[in-house]
Amino acid sequence: MCEELPTIAEIRQAIRNIPDFPQQGVQFKDITPVLANPRLFNGSVELLVEGFKPGAVDAVVGIDARGFIFAAAAAVKLRAGFVPVRKKGKLPYKTIEQTYELEYGTNTVAIHVDALQPGSRVLLIDDLLATGGTAAAAAELVKKLGAQILQMGFLIELSYLKGRQRLEGYPVRTLVVY
Ligand code: AMP
Repeated sequence: MCEELPTIAEIRQAIRNIPDFPQQGVQFKDITPVLANPRLFNGSVELLVEGFKPGAVDAVVGIDARGFIFAAAAAVKLRAGFVPVRKKGKLPYKTIEQTYELEYGTNTVAIHVDALQPGSRVLLIDDLLATGGTAAAAAELVKKLGAQILQMGFLIELSYLKGRQRLEGYPVRTLVVY
């Protein structure tokens, strides 16, 4: 199948802004209309992996929970494995964990100890880059397992939160920037 890729403007138009969800002051970016549209869903995954050929990546690491959707689709496109980074306490086998600071308190993410082989080539994908704390912690887990991040991809970047600064040294691709 070879349909035309959507424009960034088309993807942007489909992203729904929900003010004050899940709490006062947050502008929640609802990506479900993108997922529900076959051309936009397929096209946004296509744009996130553009330049990588099947076989060029060993694993796509997806971040809990909406990152799983894009990462799993990307993994299928690239014939790569899919590896979840989840919130602490959700993965059933032995894990390593990474804790990071939030505005109020901390958060901990985890990965299975055997999820990635040393030297394996990884794309890291999430739906949205905000402060970059989650992605930086996930990258730390990938690094601890000895794997190498070729690129981090996000459908959305909230550039005013300066997440890229926290991901310095990693190639970062984002599609729709606010
Ligand atoms: P951060 O660690 O600050 O970069 O936050 C990124 C994570 O939080 C991602 O997994 C997003 O799904 C989620 N997130 C943060 N801010 C928003 C937002 N405004 N709308 C939707 N999801 C968000």
